[in-house]
Amino acid sequence: MNAPQSARKPLMALDDALTQLLSHVAPLSGTETVATVMADRRVLAEDLVSELHVPPQDNSSMDGYAVRVADVTERSVVLPVSQRIAAGHPAQVLTPGTCARIFTGAPVPPGADAIVMQEDTREVGGDFHAVHIDAVPSVGQWIRRAGEDVTRGAVVLPRGTRLSAASLGLAAGIGAAHLSVVVKPRVALFSTGDELVMPGEVPPAQMKPGAIYNSNRFFLRVLLERLGCEVSDLGIVPDQREATVAALKTAADHHDLILTSGGVSVGEEDHIKPAVQQLGSLDLWQIAMKPGKPFAYGSVRRDAGAGAGAGGHCHFIGLPGNPVSSFVTFLLLVRPFLLKLQGVAASAFQPPFRTMRLRADFELPRADKRREFLRVRRNDAGGLDLFSNQSSGVLTSAGWADGLVDNPAGTVIARGDLVDYIALAELLP
Ligand code: AMP
Ligand code: MG
Repeated sequence: MNAPQSARKPLMALDDALTQLLSHVAPLSGTETVATVMADRRVLAEDLVSELHVPPQDNSSMDGYAVRVADVTERSVVLPVSQRIAAGHPAQVLTPGTCARIFTGAPVPPGADAIVMQEDTREVGGDFHAVHIDAVPSVGQWIRRAGEDVTRGAVVLPRGTRLSAASLGLAAGIGAAHLSVVVKPRVALFSTGDELVMPGEVPPAQMKPGAIYNSNRFFLRVLLERLGCEVSDLGIVPDQREATVAALKTAADHHDLILTSGGVSVGEEDHIKPAVQQLGSLDLWQIAMKPGKPFAYGSVRRDAGAGAGAGGHCHFIGLPGNPVSSFVTFLLLVRPFLLKLQGVAASAFQPPFRTMRLRADFELPRADKRREFLRVRRNDAGGLDLFSNQSSGVLTSAGWADGLVDNPAGTVIARGDLVDYIALAELLP
């Protein structure tokens, strides 16, 4: 059963666990083409190369007048207006000794070498046939040069980029209506625990003694989806060996990853570990971190002949049942795993997070043997406040926090100490 001797072995360090975990991941090779507008948070499967300059030609960055600098050597020169150029309309060569009325984004007429902004001019007579130019321009002033954003032939976004709102705009800006992206990882998600009830199934007032609502399922599903996964929600698996084996077996055939929460600790009601060992291998179990010790990684064999990816194996990750442990291990371990699985450039997850040195406006008088990730929040004085209850069952701490303090094993914190702060915004997909 759950080998008691392994519980006494020193636990694996988080960094080693992450390295091992990532060593099992080969990026998915499948790609698909999706509309650019649908590609948020997907991962580019090939370099995106621009076929044109952006902007395509020199254009004005101001409403004003296009001039030849040589014609405006002193203030208050009067120039006749020889043409009017609006954005999206062509320009003619600028006749020497004249200026062109021009608007933001309109092409600079050949021959002009500066724009004088409207605020530095006064019309003569009020009918825009001629203007006083009140400022002496310098060559190139208020001109946005062709290709100053993107040059033709440049790699705008390299393969392995996880697309953001800004990068989708950039792709659209070079005319890409569709993008080639890595297929979505197919993830089977299930929760274990006889105590679990799905919200909506039983009203709060009628919950049986000992029952709790399944909260992990909700944040795990959302986090998976934000990380670009196709999630099969397999619900709650009861605390029974056979049911657990059956659920894992079925899920393995059609998924890249099985993600479970709960049931992966050392009690007799924890059936995940032996079930995975029966169906494949358990390669990693228990990490020296708090919260999050009962983390497991392994693989489950696929039935020969079953669906896509028949044969081979399906990755398995077992997260702890305690909600905060589940949340923290997802961010620190599952996130990099899924990024690598989608072929995201390693710089996005190695190192898995960046830290900032910030002042602790709290104390932690009792050190833990394990490296600890404390739920904290930045305060207006530039320091950090600690959530009052750091129990791994108290999910309020995760909702309240804007970051984690990465506190080394055996380290007490005194008020005023500088500590390593990880912004949750960096880890939340
Ligand atoms: P386990 O890892 O199964 O021993 O569970 C550890 C603790 O987390 C227990 O108190 C469980 O009731 C709780 N727990 C397990 N799964 C969930 C879940 N999906 N949502 C909320 N709490 C859970
Ligand atoms: Mg359980």
